[in-house]
Amino acid sequence: VLITIPTETAPGETRVAATPDSAAKLLKLGHQVTVQAGAGAAAGFSDAAYRDAGVTLGTDIASDLAAADLVLKVRTPTDEEIAGMKRGAIVAAFLRPASNAEMLDKLAAAGVTGLSLESVPRITRAQSIDSLSAMANIAGYRAVIEAANSFGRFMGGQMTAAGMLPPAKVLIIGAGVAGLAALGAAKSLGAIVRAFDTRSATKEQVESLGGEFLTVELEETGEGAGGYAREMSEAFIEAEFALFREQAEQVDIVITTALIPGKPAPKLWLRDMVERMKPGSVVVDLAGEQGGNCECTTPGEAVTVDGVKVLGYLNLPSRMPDTASSLYANILVNLVKHLGAEAPKIDMSDEITRAITVTHDGAVTWPPPTPPAP
Ligand code: NAD
Repeated sequence: VLITIPTETAPGETRVAATPDSAAKLLKLGHQVTVQAGAGAAAGFSDAAYRDAGVTLGTDIASDLAAADLVLKVRTPTDEEIAGMKRGAIVAAFLRPASNAEMLDKLAAAGVTGLSLESVPRITRAQSIDSLSAMANIAGYRAVIEAANSFGRFMGGQMTAAGMLPPAKVLIIGAGVAGLAALGAAKSLGAIVRAFDTRSATKEQVESLGGEFLTVELEETGEGAGGYAREMSEAFIEAEFALFREQAEQVDIVITTALIPGKPAPKLWLRDMVERMKPGSVVVDLAGEQGGNCECTTPGEAVTVDGVKVLGYLNLPSRMPDTASSLYANILVNLVKHLGAEAPKIDMSDEITRAITVTHDGAVTWPPPTPPAP
């Protein structure tokens, strides 16, 4: 089929939905691939590299979109892109169906099938197209790099002739995919790392990566549907706050990643905790897109509160566009294979395809009838 990759236009977006490598794989499956000239530039992939891979470089996005059977994107398509696609075409991207009702209506009205990459169920069979995990892994690693960059000291301890330098102490709140990636990165730089999560299943994972798992006295299960977190009782959150107030005086870096599906991010690192931290300490809030875990976070910005830097950067994967694009583009190749390598089509009886298909045949098909992976 004819596959088109437009240039991403969302502000700050540096990723691209096909790399020269992934495009070569799509070509090998027998498809025709057109990448807009310059689409990979922000991620470090030159037009020449795409050309060498056998890709056609597009210069007229309108005609390429009109001809495409399959459009691969990172971010939601613009109104213009939707209007320019032919009926029956498929667009795969992070479509954010839960907060994009209007866009779903437009896709349906245009007769375009929308595949939402964040709706992939988190089951073993779908692991090769789990782009949320791929991006969370990058965000967790990058959070540590951003923290280290804003921190005026070494992460690891050193004994030098000029003096002893203690290792940085890092606290990670939320030990899911991003939190565990942050743990690994901070450990490898030599920091002392502690982590807290409401799901007790994370204890073993934290410890196996060399972290110390913190607990509160109160027993309450944090395990919700599908292995995700649920909202905790007020008493539990109070106990969590007491633990954090104690930690605030000890740790140099806090990385927050706590999310509850379908809810705004819980506020867990309060202003008084920021104020308890030593000047020069750093907070990196990975929950900015859901409003942030830290009370002092300004989403998208770095602010200083009482001598503590609070980093609320959004879209951390875009700060590592090469790796983020490479993993995402590979996931899209795996998605094409899932849909039928040589002749991709929408089989609504397939559990994974059904879960990610948000518009089809002129109708909005989100949410899927069976409970979606949140
Ligand atoms: P997430 O991004 O939704 O949340 C991040 C973490 O925040 C979670 O670990 C959650 O428990 C934690 N959290 C929520 N409220 C908290 C609070 N008050 N205090 C401290 N921590 C809090 O989660 P995620 O990283 O996307 O993954 C969640 C789960 O899904 C994990 O168990 C992961 O192993 C699982 N998963 C499974 C698959 C698969 O089977 N293919 C793929 C990816 C993830």
